[in-house]
Amino acid sequence: MTVVRTRFAPSPTGYLHLGGARTALYSWAYARHFGGTFVLRIEDTDLERSTPEAVQAIIEGMNWLGLHHDEGPFYQMQRMDRYREVVGQMLEAGTAYLCYSSPEEVEAMRERMRAAGDKPRYDGTWRPEPGKTLPAVPEGRKPVVRFKNPLDGEVSWDDVVKGTITISNRELDDLVIARPDGTPTYNFCVAVDDWDMQITHVLRGDDHVNNTPRQINILRAIGAPLPLYGHLPMILGADGEKLSKRHGAVSVMDYPAKGYLPEAMLNYLARLGWSHGDDEVFSMEQFCAWFNTDHLTRSAAQFNNEKLAWLNNHYIKQADNARLASLARPLMEAQGAQFDGAPDLGAALGLMKERASTVNELAESAMLFFRTPQPDAALVAQHLTPAVKPALSQFAERLRTVEWSKEAVAPVIKEVLAAHGLKMPQLAMPLRLALTGQLQTPAIDAVIVLFSRETVLARLQNFL
Ligand code: GLU
Repeated sequence: MTVVRTRFAPSPTGYLHLGGARTALYSWAYARHFGGTFVLRIEDTDLERSTPEAVQAIIEGMNWLGLHHDEGPFYQMQRMDRYREVVGQMLEAGTAYLCYSSPEEVEAMRERMRAAGDKPRYDGTWRPEPGKTLPAVPEGRKPVVRFKNPLDGEVSWDDVVKGTITISNRELDDLVIARPDGTPTYNFCVAVDDWDMQITHVLRGDDHVNNTPRQINILRAIGAPLPLYGHLPMILGADGEKLSKRHGAVSVMDYPAKGYLPEAMLNYLARLGWSHGDDEVFSMEQFCAWFNTDHLTRSAAQFNNEKLAWLNNHYIKQADNARLASLARPLMEAQGAQFDGAPDLGAALGLMKERASTVNELAESAMLFFRTPQPDAALVAQHLTPAVKPALSQFAERLRTVEWSKEAVAPVIKEVLAAHGLKMPQLAMPLRLALTGQLQTPAIDAVIVLFSRETVLARLQNFL
């Protein structure tokens, strides 16, 4: 059995976007499923656009998601000697050749072909063929190296997402694999890397479909085994357009900032291009156990913020309160939350998490326990009626000695209501106002014991 080796090969020209994260997730999960190896390769040969900050941003995004690589990161810029070596070997083997046509000449030949209604391509002036005499080498001109693409036949592969794809070799040019200064070009580097890194499965965005026949021809020419390819369809916005900033955040690291949990993001991305029956909610352990290439979706997926928010709410509800507290605390500090003598933050968040779609919403909603209550005077007048006041006083009195738990406080509320002939809201509303300044809170018994006895008594005293 082949050992599975997958790779994620981002170009570090910006942040890790959602499409890239999904590619990384699938490649990672595929390796995990088969007990294989997941390689991280940084394709940084575009010197104009690649930055170390982008490398950091990509690694940060993958760390946040927990997509840890087993090998790498390998940097293409550190592999230049290896690419030069392979170029040399190909020249020697006759699978590549020196081409002295100037850029102007190449442009002119393309122009001629366009005018004749043909697909513009290199005309093979410098391509050696048996019995052919090559032109004289122009003085002082540095050659490029071109790949000797097969002239006839076709390239075909069984794409694990899209099915069989076949491209005629006539469609493919003799690709430049090394520039006049010797630097190798994109498709060539990818082919050499996939060979050297013994990649068995290439999952990537379908914007690379056009590169695949070129890479396959190069791999064949250098005697490398072919990986299996799977080209994942694009992620679209809800309006069916290509996902862009216009649709909201496209950078993965915007999501922790907006209060999303990584497990929600992973679960969401997993379903965005793959399915397992009707399963919508699953752990990464489950996903790795299920994930293979059988159920990848052929059509483009649409990003749906509501569904992501729904999943995030699910994982917030599952999350440990102490973990939520460490995420929410800085947000609440920034909003002026007072933590001295205040309720336990984890317990407060636990009371509020049922309805929060993001940690930011959760933090916002829990602020009511961490501010000095300032109930609106009109609301106080409305709810603290003469009929209610004595009941509230009696309740405060009972709170001095009752055991400080929800289970012990709840029956006391009932007793006081019965003794004064009141209904629950008549006592609960003024209590809410007194303790939080607001009328909407979770169940009043839970809110009472969230605070310390001293705080509750002090606030009731102020209120009455
Ligand atoms: N570096 C390419 C990109 O970021 C990916 C290349 C590949 O997966 O083969 O789009």
